Amino acid sequence: MGARLYLFLALVAATALLALASGAPAPADRAAACHAYSQGPLAPDAALASLDWRCDNDDWEDGHAITWLRYDTSAQGEPPRYFIGGTSVFERIGAYALADGNVVAQARFLPGEVDPIPAGAGFSLPLPSGGAAADTWLIAIERPHNVTIASEARLLGSDGKDPSIRRGMVLLALITGMLVMPLLFDAMFYLVLRERFVLLHAGMTVAMIGYLLGSGGVACAFVEIPVNWLARIGPVSYALGVGLAGLFVHAFLEPDALSGRMRRLLKRTAIWSMIVPVFAGLQLPLTQSFDNRLYFIAFLPVIPIYVAAILSAIPRGSRAAWFLAAAWFPVVAASMVRLLRGMGLLPGAGGPDISLFVALGVEVTIVALAIADRFLAVRRERDRAVTKARAFETLAEHDKLTGLFNRRALEDRFGTLRADGFTTLAVLDLDHFKRVNDRYGHAGGDEVLKCAAQAITPPHGDTLAFRMGGEEFVLLLRGSDTFARAENKRRAITTRIAASGLVDTPVTASMGIVEVPHGALADTGFETLYNRADRLLYEAKAAGRDRTMTERLKVFHPRRQTERRAAA
Ligand code: GH3
Ligand code: MG
Ligand code: MG
Repeated sequence: MGARLYLFLALVAATALLALASGAPAPADRAAACHAYSQGPLAPDAALASLDWRCDNDDWEDGHAITWLRYDTSAQGEPPRYFIGGTSVFERIGAYALADGNVVAQARFLPGEVDPIPAGAGFSLPLPSGGAAADTWLIAIERPHNVTIASEARLLGSDGKDPSIRRGMVLLALITGMLVMPLLFDAMFYLVLRERFVLLHAGMTVAMIGYLLGSGGVACAFVEIPVNWLARIGPVSYALGVGLAGLFVHAFLEPDALSGRMRRLLKRTAIWSMIVPVFAGLQLPLTQSFDNRLYFIAFLPVIPIYVAAILSAIPRGSRAAWFLAAAWFPVVAASMVRLLRGMGLLPGAGGPDISLFVALGVEVTIVALAIADRFLAVRRERDRAVTKARAFETLAEHDKLTGLFNRRALEDRFGTLRADGFTTLAVLDLDHFKRVNDRYGHAGGDEVLKCAAQAITPPHGDTLAFRMGGEEFVLLLRGSDTFARAENKRRAITTRIAASGLVDTPVTASMGIVEVPHGALADTGFETLYNRADRLLYEAKAAGRDRTMTERLKVFHPRRQTERRAAA
């Protein structure tokens, strides 16, 4: 309990630090813009003259046909060479250099023509040459789906691939690696556990890897992905990941850890977040005016419901809930910050940031530990059940008084034992045992029975002894001299009981014995053999007791065809 609390507090502190670090103010060069919106295309000089320009870095709006950015570059020494925008779906970007209100250079870019920045949630495009003398740059972004394309935008002298990107790449690659480990774990657990929650966790981890590679831009280091695709991979895989995470919690919490209502609510919320935000994340042309807001608003109820579900499971004694609480706290904190930023309630960009990536890495790892913990618990439980089942089996197959196998064990295994080469079955019955009971009492009789059982207890695997009930025993034998060996056992009963001093008159036994050699064409089922041996036993009793009657079934060898032909 104490250790868990410390772990939890350490995570809270780490997340807070990360969130603070990632919320650091943006570089100064990007805020130098004014922005405006138009509902249709405009000539750059007309836009410059007629639009309602806002020159602060907030009030960013979704849903306009064109977002315009204006940079005054006359005062700067070095002319800008690149435009950097936040990752978003868009239709086209126009870049115009103006001097004294006249366009001196221009270029237009389709989404496939801009260059995503690896390990940065953005892309860069080269400004047209010929703009060195420009005093103003205008950037027209057509149908932007996400405000970050403009709110994160800036003009730079370089293409934005500065050394900090390499550091970011290393960090993101590390976190991606961190996520691959739990996937391997999952694969191993699934081989053993076959539990649905392991698959859900793997699905969630894959979605989070997709999110990291897409939103974090790491994917661009390996493959060329058009920015319009990149802008969708991130939010769609995040939404899928959140939905799968909810389904995972639903499947992973112990059966009685949630009330029925909470369980249903959790499941519906998880499914909701795989439908609505995923739809918004696809950023279809028709939904451009609201998909960004829909994405964030659709997530609003998700986090509180997940948190409520996990917290409500703790007082119900759920062990899994503790793990989940520790795992989820950093993600919840980082996601809340992201949500509030996305909705403009907190300063900073709503896009993904490092704190969220780290939190996801932590989450997936702690949950993998939780699965390992469950794995051990399931195995302990199974071992206990197996031990219990074995104990029951032993109980059910053994006679309590003598410890010998009982009739049930003999009947159940007879076929197998025959196949294993046991050829001979002997039935033994103590003679006049009623008299022993009459003289020494039932308890005294019991002692004599135990003694008899010890006398016939086999020294090796070629003889097996069973107590059929009362004072009747069966021996199964294989190998050579089975009759003689059985006879020795029968006599040993008398010797051993006499030596025990339990009784002062000899206790003898009678025996009927049948051998069925291999190849005998007889019915060798248990009932048949037992009945034959029992009839022989009856004959032994009738003939005066303390003796053995034997029968060896004949082996019928059909003469070979050649012999038959010769005889003919
Ligand atoms: P015989 O077999 O020689 O014909 O005579 P018997 O006296 O042994 O005959 P029977 O098989 O009819 O009697 C067996 C007796 O064994 C009857 C029963 O009271 C006694 N018995 C059966 N099970 C137990 C047991 O578990 N403990 C004791 N002490 N006696 C038992
Ligand atoms: Mg008897
Ligand atoms: Mg009997």
